[in-house]
This record gives sequence, structure tokens and C-alpha cells, in this order.
Amino acid sequence: MQDYSKLKKAAELLLEGIGEDKTREGLLETSERVAKAWQFWTKGYEDDPASIMKTFKNPSFDQLIVIPKIDYYSHCEHHLAAFYGQVHIGYLPNGKVLGVSKFARLVEIYARRLQIQERLTQQIAEDIMKYLEPQGVGVVVKGIHLCMRSRGIEKQNAEMITSVMLGKFRSVPQLREEFLMLLNS
Ligand code: ZN
Repeated sequence: MQDYSKLKKAAELLLEGIGEDKTREGLLETSERVAKAWQFWTKGYEDDPASIMKTFKNPSFDQLIVIPKIDYYSHCEHHLAAFYGQVHIGYLPNGKVLGVSKFARLVEIYARRLQIQERLTQQIAEDIMKYLEPQGVGVVVKGIHLCMRSRGIEKQNAEMITSVMLGKFRSVPQLREEFLMLLNS
């Protein structure tokens, strides 16, 4: 459950912790802005994937469907720093399909929480398996992690790619290859 007053308090403590003067002019409203921003960045906890995963029947279509380049913004649970990038989804339907915008909303629900990129990828793939019951699903997530990019010596290597392949995407190499080829085209 979100608690605005705790978020605001935390922002005030953060300012004090870094040695800032929270009463100086530029920071007077910062704690409130930070609290509101964190409410937005973590709004995914309030949403239930079941409410958006309304599928419709299309028994005749049994070919690969790819929804590439869904932008996301998330925060890593290790540093509370932003990471962001794109999610690419492919699935082989089994009588049920889902509107394109619903995939973007599903991504939004899981990205607007504290995350690690591996789990974000897994949760999206598992929900598509659960609600669409396809023959298979593949999810590829690319992420730029500010906790890595802005610190230390790992700056060059701040992009990470994770993937989860389920059902026929795991068992049929040609299908997986077709999916990955379409992503690179
Ligand atoms: Zn991190």
C-alpha cells in the first residue's frame, strides 16, 4: 500500500542524509515532488494483470505474432535507480489472441514496481502463458541500468539483455530463430 507521507518523509531524510539543506529555496518542494514521482514509479503494485488480459478468440490464426519495441521504465530493487529500455514479445497463438495495447499495459504493470530485469522478463512471459494459453511465448528485454552506468568502472557495459522462452519457443529452435530474426530485421 502506498503511503504518501512516508515517501515524503523518506525524501526529506535523503536530503538530510546527503548533507543538503531541505529548507533552501530550490529544495522547498522537492520532497513532495519526489513522493509523487515515487507513487507514479511504483503504481504497478496497485494493478492486477487479470483485469487487462481479456483475450478474444481467433481459432484460424496459428502463425507467429511479434509485438516488438514496447518501451518501459522501471527501478532496480538493489539501488532504487532507474533502468529502462524495450520489451519484445512473440507468441504462437492457440486459438486466443490479445490486443496490442494490452501487452504494453502488462509491461507497465510489472515495470512500475521495484524490479530486477530477469524477474520482469519472467513475469511478462508467465502471464502471457497463463492468460493466452499460447503454444509458446518468447520475451526479450533490453535494459540500460543507471546504477551501473552512473557509477564505478562498469560504465561501458551498462546494457543487459534477458530472455525467457516458454512452450514451443523453448522446444522448437526454428521458431525461436524466426522470432529473434524478426526482432533484428
Ligand atoms: Zn541496481
